[in-house]
Amino acid sequence: MAKLVDFHCHLDLYPDFEALVRECETREIYTLAVTTTPRAWSRNHELASKTKHVRAALGLHPQLVHSHGSDIVMWEKLLDKSSYVGEVGLDASPQYYKSLPEQKHVFERILKACSKQGGKVLSIHSIRTASTVLDMANEHLDLRNNTMVLHWFTGTAVEARRAVEMGCYFSINARMLRSSKSNALLKAVPLERILTETDGPFTDGKVGPARPEDAMTCVEGLAGAYDLPVADMQKAIVRNLLAILQTVTK
Ligand code: MN
Repeated sequence: MAKLVDFHCHLDLYPDFEALVRECETREIYTLAVTTTPRAWSRNHELASKTKHVRAALGLHPQLVHSHGSDIVMWEKLLDKSSYVGEVGLDASPQYYKSLPEQKHVFERILKACSKQGGKVLSIHSIRTASTVLDMANEHLDLRNNTMVLHWFTGTAVEARRAVEMGCYFSINARMLRSSKSNALLKAVPLERILTETDGPFTDGKVGPARPEDAMTCVEGLAGAYDLPVADMQKAIVRNLLAILQTVTK
């Protein structure tokens, strides 16, 4: 049976964090455990490094920059230990708009640090900032040896096509597929650039907050959208993930 992929999940925000890491491993769900602050990374990495299917990403969430912006110093110190970066990016929704200049400053430092080291995979948040995120990546990120995965992308189809041309991947969740915008997005993104995510626990699963196994709901939705059998869709997503993993240095 093909495996599942949850390329953006906040495993450390579940009450049974450690059990959930083990569950991803036994169920063979490739899971990217994103973090919102670099302070959380070491514990995530410690648990993930004992598994084959879970990896920890070093993050500094744009919604936390206004209160934890100085964590960028710790983030930069940890980067050479991690090939995975996230959750990072920009958020211009009304409650975070004020901190946008500081968010940009932090994000620029993140992109430059990734460029310097190379071999990174970034899970990127871009609420109301798709064009700015792509502009900044063009300017500050070496896209020849780093891979961007746009998480819960809400930009326009034109922005999505630009991101595809830049080599970006898109991690799609089931909630996005319920939005009327998803048809235009999926038309703009070739199957080879699609991954699945849950963004758990911030979306709903079959029972309560989504867990990595709920990525299957998204696989089923994508199969419908791309007119493929579910099993073929599932295999295609694993194939896309393996293509990305080949670019990772460690
Ligand atoms: Mn998230």
